[in-house]
Amino acid sequence: MDFIPGQSESSSAQVIPVKVGNFVIGQGNFTAFAGPCSIESYEQFSAAAKGVQKAGAVMLRGGMWKLRTSSTTFQGLGGDAFEIVKKVKKETGLPFVSEITDPRQIDEIYDIVDMFQVGSRNMHNYALLKELGLYKKPVLLKRGFAALVTEWVKAAEYISQGGNDQIVLCERGIRTFETSTRNTLDLNAVVFAKENTPYPVIVDPSHAVGVRSLVPQLAYASAAAGADGIIVEVHPRPDEALSDKEQALSIESFAAMMKQLEKVLAAFDRTLIKPAQPPVFSEVPLVQ
Ligand code: PEP
Ligand code: MN
Repeated sequence: MDFIPGQSESSSAQVIPVKVGNFVIGQGNFTAFAGPCSIESYEQFSAAAKGVQKAGAVMLRGGMWKLRTSSTTFQGLGGDAFEIVKKVKKETGLPFVSEITDPRQIDEIYDIVDMFQVGSRNMHNYALLKELGLYKKPVLLKRGFAALVTEWVKAAEYISQGGNDQIVLCERGIRTFETSTRNTLDLNAVVFAKENTPYPVIVDPSHAVGVRSLVPQLAYASAAAGADGIIVEVHPRPDEALSDKEQALSIESFAAMMKQLEKVLAAFDRTLIKPAQPPVFSEVPLVQ
């Protein structure tokens, strides 16, 4: 898709809604995805999942294969996470998104994940994107930390050209000259992508800022900027997290943040999709 900045129709006229579980992303309301950076054990994932569900998350996250900057740090449970995920999904009834790092994992996790996550480091992995375009499963496409918005949108087209238009963009912070926080949240990109692309856009404030105490403010700003949702890292014992502990929220902090977030959304006449009250959409195009 070619797009000309400032020349688009309104985003609501163009947006392709994305159906996951029993809700739809991109129809004006707000979605919260939450869970740990990495799945570490049944006890840890189950506690995180039940905590975030109670606080209002409608989608679970949790890494099984972790692309860590250092090869000597925790790399994820891999296949050992599958049974944990199945059990926790059954207990909560919530859908699950997880990062795929290799096209060979698609078949392995197809029945476990409800949405494939393409991580920042793989946004340029066109072989992976093309392969995901051939499947009827939604894709969460994170922005490369050094990618232009145009490159991000073109990466999405590698998926859509295969026939899969169920794509959600995720702004997760970019690398700038600033080093006081992990990355810099580019809210410009969020409003730009909302206005100039057909894809719903969510924000990952956790990786964007990398500092636990600053995550809620960025979540509120994202909601005010018109993002379709957030994906947040939450751990039952943040200081013990095996990956990204600096940015992990406790379940209590996540719950407090969600309460405030509802007030921010209300100021913009928007609502949070709640787990207990799934909205009913009859006219949703299903690609599955
Ligand atoms: C993650 O979501 O755990 C992750 C690794 O994110 P990113 O690809 O944005 O770094
Ligand atoms: Mn992480």
